[in-house]
Amino acid sequence: MIVKMVLRLLVFLLLICSLAACGQSPDTGSLLPIATTEIEQAGSPTPQGELAPVTPSPATLFLPTVVLPSPTPTATPTPIPFRICSPLDIHDLDELPEIISDPYRPPPPGKEERHHGVDFSYYRRGERTTIQGVGVQSVFSGRVIAAIPDSFPYGNVVIIETVYEDLPAELAAELEISPGESIYTLYAHMDQAPLVTLGDTVLACQPLGQVGVSGNAYEPHLHLEMRLGAPGAEFSIMGFYKADDTAEERSNYVLWRTSGEFRHFDPMRVLKKTSDDPIGGD
Ligand SMILES: [Zn+2]
Repeated sequence: MIVKMVLRLLVFLLLICSLAACGQSPDTGSLLPIATTEIEQAGSPTPQGELAPVTPSPATLFLPTVVLPSPTPTATPTPIPFRICSPLDIHDLDELPEIISDPYRPPPPGKEERHHGVDFSYYRRGERTTIQGVGVQSVFSGRVIAAIPDSFPYGNVVIIETVYEDLPAELAAELEISPGESIYTLYAHMDQAPLVTLGDTVLACQPLGQVGVSGNAYEPHLHLEMRLGAPGAEFSIMGFYKADDTAEERSNYVLWRTSGEFRHFDPMRVLKKTSDDPIGGD
């Protein structure tokens, strides 16, 4: 009996001793594998995985948890507020009525004559002696559906489509735009080939070119048209009145100008908006 008790006591003492020995070197024996694992995770994006052998130090131990960012959601982009921009980058919307050189003068439906848009021009304004070279920019955001260099009569011309869904309900109602229709905005007679290309997505105020005298123009001016029509139109070429115009160029011109498929209206109905207006811009 006494022998058994002595043996149990010895076993108990041995057990206590072994447990105590396990706790003798906690600083290196237990943390080293953890630190190595974390650094391997941090270095895993490199193809060779060469960061794994790095000797851990107190500074690197915290590196993974401090540096690694938590996943951030990117699926829902912030919607861009609707804006109306002046088509001339140095002239605010408020100034436009003062520099109209030829207003919108609509012809009877289907007719070519008179004026399908509005012209902006001047010989002297402030320190400027011409409107030539003033930056032309997009009134609305949208998609470039024509970016044609050196055509006639429009010269270097851009057309941008803004779909119904991107328009504020207030503006759509004011312009009597039917659901599913788009606004098409045309910028003509620019100085050089357009800065945008067919199919580009543009933002309001995005540069399109500079005021020029290309096409059927005798003085530098911006000719601006706005029309309503079915969405999805596209004109890679367009022209009329020149002997070498192709059948497709002429067909596109007629479709745009007089077919009735694209109904023009006075662009000043949109551009009269000012910065004081809820949907106005600059
Ligand atoms: Zn004009």
